[in-house]
Amino acid sequence: MKITGIETYLMQVGARPSAASETKGIYADFRGSRNWLFVKVLTDEGLYGIGECSGWPRVIETAVKDYANLLIGEDPANIDRLWSKLFIGSMGHGVLGTVGGGALTGIEMALWDIKGKALGQPVWNLLGGKFRDRIPVYGHAKTPAQAKALLEKGYKAMKVSFTGAVDISKVAAVRETVGPEIDVMVDAHGPSWATPQDAIQVGRALEEFDLLFYEDPIAPENLDALQRVRDNVTIPLAAGERLSTIWGLRPLIERELVDVVQPDTGRAGGITQMRKIAAMAEAHYITMAPHSGSLGPVAEYAALHVMATIPNALMLERMENDWPGRDTVIIPAPQVTDGTLHLPTAPGLGVDIVPEEIAKHPSIRNISMLPDDDGWAYERGTPDEAVYFQTRLQRRLKLKR
Ligand SMILES: [Mg+2]
Repeated sequence: MKITGIETYLMQVGARPSAASETKGIYADFRGSRNWLFVKVLTDEGLYGIGECSGWPRVIETAVKDYANLLIGEDPANIDRLWSKLFIGSMGHGVLGTVGGGALTGIEMALWDIKGKALGQPVWNLLGGKFRDRIPVYGHAKTPAQAKALLEKGYKAMKVSFTGAVDISKVAAVRETVGPEIDVMVDAHGPSWATPQDAIQVGRALEEFDLLFYEDPIAPENLDALQRVRDNVTIPLAAGERLSTIWGLRPLIERELVDVVQPDTGRAGGITQMRKIAAMAEAHYITMAPHSGSLGPVAEYAALHVMATIPNALMLERMENDWPGRDTVIIPAPQVTDGTLHLPTAPGLGVDIVPEEIAKHPSIRNISMLPDDDGWAYERGTPDEAVYFQTRLQRRLKLKR
């Protein structure tokens, strides 16, 4: 079998006109929006494989098209060799970042899909077999009403996100709503306004809520700063969604800076890289809970195959309500029961894309969030400065009790 080509399918998810666009411009329509990029690797035998790339999809699409030149004519069965060929070929060295990681990931995922289809086996069965038939997932809740809605669906775990300010009272309200039997987590999203001392203060305030983990307490660039947080709070820490490959995740794991590692199945390097990262983590008694904040539904399928086959699988993040059309661009929709996703049993990844549905949502832009007066890392009143690491002006607005 030979690879004959690669097709890309780029789409915009969740863009919606809003009243805010009249006062804040067209960008307001794209708050909370994102792009999904799917790839299809074609072969001369008619079999094809599906994959997905997350991270910066419009840019990754160009990288995928460049990689195609290195793949055409190759045997898709030799997944690891082809991964290495792309890794070396991209820049002559290995530091790829999110774009390169995303491009490698989607292609490698599609090669696994081809192998599974060719052998008539689900990917998980080619990876050593399964530990479990269902993968536990967690949802997102910021209010008691959202927490109750997840409980009614059978979720056993949910995460409170801090966007903009850190509001401990939201965590208290969710914990009180769900009781002690349900796992609660907090994601601080690596706030660039937070110094290590801020993150420690928040972490200590969170200790009473018996969290499963405290995610990205601080901006991700400086691991020595994360070490300071690690040394001064007692709750488990989680991080890693922005990193790719075993070398990108290695410092977090080898320094034991986290208890839960969170590589993104759409950009960490591929299915094999995810399993290698999991193995590194296993040796350090670290569990894995793959990130899914920007993932589409094909990478979610790939995550199920990975999570079925590793011993230290904690949970999978799920954005089930990110966009109502989520299940229309793939076939079949994943099966969800009581806060778990069922492991696919069809050959390959067990999922295909629906190109005519994808074509209804053309990509327009990458911007998914902007500085504004209530948002994210930017100090109120200073969005035009676009400073990444913030001064501590108005710090009281960021730390709410
Ligand atoms: Mg996160």
